[in-house]
Amino acid sequence: MNQLPKLSGFHLQNDNWFAENVSLLDIANQFGTPCYVYSKKALTQAFMAYESACLRKDGTRRARVHFAMKSNSNLAILDVFAQLGAGFDLVSGGELERVIAAGVNPALCVFSGVGKSVQEITRALEVGVKCFNIESIPELSRINDIAGQLGLVAPISLRVNPDVDAKTHPYISTGLKDNKFGIAYESVLATYAAAKSMPNCNIVGIDCHIGSQILDIQPYLDALDRVLLLIEQLRDQGINIHHLDIGGGLGIDYGGDIAPDITLFANTLLNHIEKRGFGFLDVIFEPGRSLVGNAGVLLTRIEYLKPTDAKNFCVVDAAMNDLMRPAMYDAFHSIVPVVNKSLLAETYDVVGPVCESGDWLGKDRLLSVVSGDLLAILSAGAYGSTMSSNYNTRPRAAEVMVSDTSVHLIRERETVQSLFALEHLLPK
Ligand SMILES: *Cc1c(COP(=O)(O)O)cnc(C)c1O
Repeated sequence: MNQLPKLSGFHLQNDNWFAENVSLLDIANQFGTPCYVYSKKALTQAFMAYESACLRKDGTRRARVHFAMKSNSNLAILDVFAQLGAGFDLVSGGELERVIAAGVNPALCVFSGVGKSVQEITRALEVGVKCFNIESIPELSRINDIAGQLGLVAPISLRVNPDVDAKTHPYISTGLKDNKFGIAYESVLATYAAAKSMPNCNIVGIDCHIGSQILDIQPYLDALDRVLLLIEQLRDQGINIHHLDIGGGLGIDYGGDIAPDITLFANTLLNHIEKRGFGFLDVIFEPGRSLVGNAGVLLTRIEYLKPTDAKNFCVVDAAMNDLMRPAMYDAFHSIVPVVNKSLLAETYDVVGPVCESGDWLGKDRLLSVVSGDLLAILSAGAYGSTMSSNYNTRPRAAEVMVSDTSVHLIRERETVQSLFALEHLLPK
């Protein structure tokens, strides 16, 4: 794969890469490296691609996008989507505090995740989230108990494990029987019956999420059919479902991937639901990667070129702590020089300074570069900054957002001192 992904927010112009109308070279000089750069235009276009399927011609809504914020939870990114009318899918109490800090109405948030704590549930009930996506009976009873103590009723949906194969990387496949996620398909009806008997739970929906970086629409249709069948069976039992949350997981082009068009994808699913006679349901999409993945790049500077007998290494100032996906999932990211030079190209492994052999960002890349040059690691907007760490006491990168000709710092680079500010020596 050495094709570049198609990007709407980044382009090459006169041998220089630009984010919208700002050169990445200028951004690196102003904000330093490593630095995440996002395009507001790309975020907006991806969101509107969903939105044009979610809205009917008469302006009424048949579905709503709830941005899966674990893919990128920077407040400025949340704000961009909130302004466009998004809801949010969150997976922790920390993420709940982020949406509140961004000024989002919690009633537009669904709360997913397999291990919700007492504190997280309490806070989510108090602020009034739209719905808890439930993953087990013990979680259901915990939520029922807490809601009872608070004198509140918890809106709930059960996350169904539809047992379909999304044919993606095993670490990001979540809809198979042996995944930790969701309620086993055969147990769903009984679990809804249990929920119905709980006085402080109110059944509002059903949900599923089958995996991530899914490039094929068929697994979604398979999952949909299995969930629609459940909705029918529930209706026969006197349990009415109001919303259907089909999760996220739509894949993006990292370079050579054929990803479905977002609007086509969303329309296909929504039309399928209507054709099967379920047009009365409110539908929820929970995309993460397909909204932000190709709206961000990671800028990094080459420290050294290191030829060895076996390989040439291109040692850069970004590392696995900044972008974990290659080390964690063996993921591919396209890497380009920020300024094209007419030099002899060499094949390099692009690696970071972290003391791990797993610390690589790209393997066998043909690059025309010298030390000191800048590289842009493409398609880094999703699961980049949010998965970053301080391993090797490395401050997390700065993050900026470009809108047309302006650049806004949306996260300052961490200081080294802040990394050990909460640590204490033993008493002497
Ligand atoms: C991670 C996650 C998503 C988003 O997945 P993407 O692949 O980023 O679209 C949506 N819903 C749930 C429950 C998730 O855990």
